[in-house]
Amino acid sequence: MKIAVEVKDAGAIGIGGHIRPDGDCVGACMALYLYLKKIYPEKRVELFLESPSEVFGCIKGIDQIRTQITDEEGDFDVFIALDTAKERLGAAEALFDRAGKTINIDHHVSNMGSGMVNYIDTQASSTSELIFDVIEESEIDEEIAKAIYIGIVHDTGVFRYSNTSSKTMQIAAKLLNFGFDHSDIVEKTFYEKTYVQNLLLGRALMESIFVMDGKCIVSAIGKRTLEFYQASPKDLEGVVSQLNQTKGAECTIFMYQTAAQEYKVSLRSKGKVDVARVAQVFEGGGHVRAAGCTMNGTFYDVVNNLTLHIEKQLKLAE
Ligand code: 5GP
Ligand code: MN
Repeated sequence: MKIAVEVKDAGAIGIGGHIRPDGDCVGACMALYLYLKKIYPEKRVELFLESPSEVFGCIKGIDQIRTQITDEEGDFDVFIALDTAKERLGAAEALFDRAGKTINIDHHVSNMGSGMVNYIDTQASSTSELIFDVIEESEIDEEIAKAIYIGIVHDTGVFRYSNTSSKTMQIAAKLLNFGFDHSDIVEKTFYEKTYVQNLLLGRALMESIFVMDGKCIVSAIGKRTLEFYQASPKDLEGVVSQLNQTKGAECTIFMYQTAAQEYKVSLRSKGKVDVARVAQVFEGGGHVRAAGCTMNGTFYDVVNNLTLHIEKQLKLAE
């Protein structure tokens, strides 16, 4: 797919990414937004996204993101969903549904392709890597390169996870040639934590428990804890991957409370358990080693429901 060709007849192009956007989602959306604005300055290009974490302030044009949809929006000739199927576009799903043509670019195994045109590659490290594929290399500039690089860095855990391929590295190498301060970007957008973020990480680690004979590690952050620290779910980024580094644990369940009987769940696996399949049982999705869903009930209900499906998979694998 070449995105320039797909949108060439459109006057108005909308772009959207998933709710609670992570680094890959923000990087992919911003890179595509900057690219389309650059090659088609005469077209109306709008990017709809929930407000990203402040750490992404280093990406050019991040202040152009539209976090609200107004009644006077009108219809888009083309709407492009990135890093998700249309169901997790949030408020922008309505714009996607009304668009003349819809395009879906993603790397999630749980995405069956929700656009009229789909570019879904589950082997890709990130949606940002796919953006590199669909844009003209000759049009990439330092700012576009930086956005793609940030996306790849975040979804690969700084080139650490198994989704990192030689192609990922080759693309990253090309991007580095644009000369941005890659070391500073990785430090400031990925590793650096606020004091409160570290306190929350500490609590999540301290209060973690082993279930399933130590095969699964579980932790949760309640609503009142978040309120006590005046923190938001964005401050919990990275907690689940730290938990998953625990020796012996095949998988990790981390959740934060969103309402009295509701939790947003993050799942991680070291490979034996396909957590995307577990999440899909509860209408979530993701990848084999990283997935998520929203679940109702108490902490114990959530753990019991999830471990049932995790155990089933581990038994079959034995
Ligand atoms: P995280 O645990 O970091 O929020 O998400 C891990 C992976 O699972 C990401 O690729 C994310 O897009 C996906 N994911 C997380 N929550 C959900 C969900 O509720 N539904 C779907 N379809 N995917 C999710
Ligand atoms: Mn992604």
